[in-house]
Amino acid sequence: MLHLLADWALLDDGFAPDVLVGVADGAITDVTPRSEGATGERVAGLLLPGMGNLHSHAFQRVFAGLTEHADGGGDFWSWREAMYRAAARMTPELYAPVMAWLGKELLKGGYTSVAEFHYLHHRPDGSPYARRTEMAASLVAGAEAAGIALTLLVGVYEAGGFGGAPLTGGQNRFSNDVDAALLMAASLRVHCGAVVGLALHSLRAVSPASLRRAVDGFAGQGPIHIHVAEQRAEVATCVETLGAPPVAWLLDHAAVNGAWCLVHATHANAKEIADAARTGAVIGLCPSTEADLGDGLFDFPACQEACGAFGIGSDSNVMLDAFAELRLLDYGQRLRGERRNVAAGDNGHSGRALWQQAARGGAAACGRAAGRIATGLAADFVVIEPTAEAFGQKPDFALDAAMFGAVRAPARHVMVGGAWQVRDGVHRNEAKIDSGYRAALKALGA
Ligand SMILES: [Zn+2]
Repeated sequence: MLHLLADWALLDDGFAPDVLVGVADGAITDVTPRSEGATGERVAGLLLPGMGNLHSHAFQRVFAGLTEHADGGGDFWSWREAMYRAAARMTPELYAPVMAWLGKELLKGGYTSVAEFHYLHHRPDGSPYARRTEMAASLVAGAEAAGIALTLLVGVYEAGGFGGAPLTGGQNRFSNDVDAALLMAASLRVHCGAVVGLALHSLRAVSPASLRRAVDGFAGQGPIHIHVAEQRAEVATCVETLGAPPVAWLLDHAAVNGAWCLVHATHANAKEIADAARTGAVIGLCPSTEADLGDGLFDFPACQEACGAFGIGSDSNVMLDAFAELRLLDYGQRLRGERRNVAAGDNGHSGRALWQQAARGGAAACGRAAGRIATGLAADFVVIEPTAEAFGQKPDFALDAAMFGAVRAPARHVMVGGAWQVRDGVHRNEAKIDSGYRAALKALGA
């Protein structure tokens, strides 16, 4: 049994002082504000609920920053070719150290869990490994080495485009039909410690009939994620072939509910966003990747207006800091709407509004009982210390300053399931994981 005594903790109704938090078996057993003088491990600063990262493709990190030149292409579709080349080189042996390093860096960025949208299943020629879950097992091993909670979303990927277009070279490793994905999910649920979910790649890659079968076969077993409406070209082709834009089509043809995460939804219109909000589905926003790829800007005010659930994902993993990701989310909306503090509402603080809502949405999308500091939930915490400028100010200002005025990544200590993984900004296995990652990059020729 562990007791933390935090100077300030972010509870459901705001920051409370001198909060005693009991932890046993990885979960929060009690939360008692105003416990000054109680015995416990002192936590100087602000104790926040850990952030769930609802969308990641770990392998994409290995070429982060390497397509920012004219040969990298001018749009998403040319970037995708570079992504296929990186995917082609990955092996099960190299995937674990890549995931371990990514998990470590995500922890240092304030994320305590990550939903890995996993579709890199097979050998480069498309034939399965002797054990179909070989690549998934590498992700599990890597996440365990880092100590980040993993939600493994097993990908269904059947077609190269709308209307059942055949897969092309780079996509063969991803090829996975509904039956294979459901079997892999069942096997992983028994053999690995991760939360297991389903990743329907997109309406481009999964036909309406397959989507129906997958959802019927998986309903009630875990989170279901899908890429939707990331690109205007995708929306236009969806309207042409299916008769409606992706989010509207999905809401009409699948029993979307709180187990779903609609990733990107960048070009969903206000009605689609409001309709999606009513289902309880989480919108998965990935501002840094969406900016990097020139996707466009999601209508975030429409989502807030509809009280829609949302969370953030690091997606292609060009940015690994939850605070910066949320800042970019709000900054994009400030630029779009020519106003400030978009998430704060009429009288709130931007930092608190963004962190609380994204932590709840992220936990839901990761299928974890987490995302708040409350009895019975996972003991996943991030501790920040006030910046010099915010020192002595009310804690809401300290969180705002960490998100909007930090000089370095704000997370100081990070706990997952009751165990500290990062102390004073250093991961408990930093050097070993770094050297494994460097060796993997060398082997990949990256
Ligand atoms: Zn993605």
